[in-house]
Amino acid sequence: MAKNEVAVGIDLGTTYSCVGVWQNDRVEIIANDQGNRTTPSYVAFTDTERFTGDAARNQSALNPVNTVFDAKRLIGRRFYDSTVQSDMKLWPFKVVGDNGDKPKIVVNYKGEERRFSPEELSSMVLLKMKEIAEEYLGKKVKNAVVTVPAHFNDSQRQATKDAATIAGLNVLRLLVEPTAAAVAYGLDKNLTSGMEGEKTVLIFDLGGGTFDVSLLKIKRDNIEVLATAGDTHLGGEDFDNRLLNHFVKEFRRKYGKDISRNAKSLRRLRNACEKAKRILSHNATTTIDIDSLYEGIDYSTKITRARFEDLNLDLFRSCLDTVEKCLEDAEMDQSSVHDVVLVGGSTRIPKVQQLLQQFFEGKELCKNINPDEAVAYGAAVQAATLSGEGHQKIKNLVLLDVTPLSLGVAIEGGLMSVIIPRNTTIPNTMQKVYYTCSDDQKIVKVSVYEGERARTEDNNLLGEFKLSGLPPGPRGKVKFLATFTIDANGVLSVSAKNEDNGVRNSIKIKKSGTLTAAEIERMVRDAEQFKVEDEKFRRKIRAMQEFEDYVYNTRDNTEGNYRLKASVKKMISYSIKEAIEWLDANRDAEEYEYEFKKQQFEAMCNHLIPGMGGISIEEIE
Ligand code: AMP
Repeated sequence: MAKNEVAVGIDLGTTYSCVGVWQNDRVEIIANDQGNRTTPSYVAFTDTERFTGDAARNQSALNPVNTVFDAKRLIGRRFYDSTVQSDMKLWPFKVVGDNGDKPKIVVNYKGEERRFSPEELSSMVLLKMKEIAEEYLGKKVKNAVVTVPAHFNDSQRQATKDAATIAGLNVLRLLVEPTAAAVAYGLDKNLTSGMEGEKTVLIFDLGGGTFDVSLLKIKRDNIEVLATAGDTHLGGEDFDNRLLNHFVKEFRRKYGKDISRNAKSLRRLRNACEKAKRILSHNATTTIDIDSLYEGIDYSTKITRARFEDLNLDLFRSCLDTVEKCLEDAEMDQSSVHDVVLVGGSTRIPKVQQLLQQFFEGKELCKNINPDEAVAYGAAVQAATLSGEGHQKIKNLVLLDVTPLSLGVAIEGGLMSVIIPRNTTIPNTMQKVYYTCSDDQKIVKVSVYEGERARTEDNNLLGEFKLSGLPPGPRGKVKFLATFTIDANGVLSVSAKNEDNGVRNSIKIKKSGTLTAAEIERMVRDAEQFKVEDEKFRRKIRAMQEFEDYVYNTRDNTEGNYRLKASVKKMISYSIKEAIEWLDANRDAEEYEYEFKKQQFEAMCNHLIPGMGGISIEEIE
């Protein structure tokens, strides 16, 4: 990137997005053409034009089926993903699966049916944010730091990056949202100007559609994600829905009419609910007045804060269960948390703050960052640091993110050999040496997986490639080096190389992950649950490998050994042949069977060639 090029920070949110830039030694959050500092992540299509942001949201009641929002819930996911299937039921717009199992949003645009990918729709929102910044700065903006939730997998991160590329943005870095918020928070506390020691900070991010809790360790210039938990379907929209249902029922009681099937009336009422909810964060009571809401009826009603809280209490309480889970995952308790930081517009709700403060035994919550802007604020700081524009106090800030799942390759027996363990800080590079498993094997297939289970078939296949042209040699003697590199954006590259003749091949895992946050959570949970079973499987594969290695090493040591009598050689090679045949026919035997067979074979060898017991077994990993 050219020197003096400006770089912005963009928080691409599920319901709202926000853009900031570092200027005159501080972050400026940029207001849009409507004067709003956050912009709805909405795109709408009509017979004549396309709207983005406030303009799209404002016309949504009139054009619900062609007004698209929540693209962040679809990005990087498969159509048949269970969350996509259940989300679809709630959206007024249509989503279909194309050939590659990718979701496409169907709209009517300029009189024609058009299908857009979630990346394209997110790119339209990103383009809007880029234009807001360009309008304010009076110059073109190319470079950006874009934020993603901490639980986004590789596929979701890549797809977000692709969306930015489509919008004409060069992504300097994808930054995870809690880390971005912590940067904003860190500056606030003058973290980088000499704060000593280590701090544990809990980021409580309750936005429009999602809820994320992250525990971070902040030490000097380092910010590390220790644990994350969340609910991908909890946020302001759910609170709006509770209000909406309340008023739909009230309307039915008062007028005997059901408005729930009329999309336009519902949309208008929903918008009024969101407004009322915001007012109730400041006032104890508010009114709703909508002219001609349904069949010419003007609807006018009242709601109190107490009633709103009552309608949502179970949802608010569930937030605390998530906080508890995050603390448990990090093996910490409330008292280890130094600061609790509020992020996301819904943290303005007084009841949420009250419950959270109670949970942390009366601790003062950090509310001094604007909750809607904290993420964009941190992204703008990071953008300035990366573009060399930032103030001295942010120059050395290092932001550490972690891998959500272990990454590795499949080895003999379908065993997962982990190269980058879960929760490793990124960017990072890790390597491991592997050996061939048959004689004169010219080609090895490198299958890359993510997941926590011992068997690769229980994990998620990310990609495969072949390394061919390996030099000839007996099994277990020809080796190759597998290198996993995961960049700062969480994108994985894998290469395999034979050091002897230099043959090499690699793969960049592009649209790799097909996992959702819920699936990641499930896989980690499964792995814990299946630990015993997995350990049994590992031991069994290890026993098989040990027997196999022993047999082949015996073969290597006897075949070319001229000091052995021909008759002994003959008997041994017969036993070797028999053992190999047995192994080929019994790839799924029990651990004790492999051990028993190995003992028998060892005893036979020791009987024929006394003192032969010490044949070394090459380690597979
Ligand atoms: P975010 O995605 O972080 O911008 O959060 C947006 C959500 O915060 C939306 O659901 C808003 O309705 C909600 N929100 C914004 N301001 C308030 C407020 N004063 N009280 C309650 N909810 C709010």
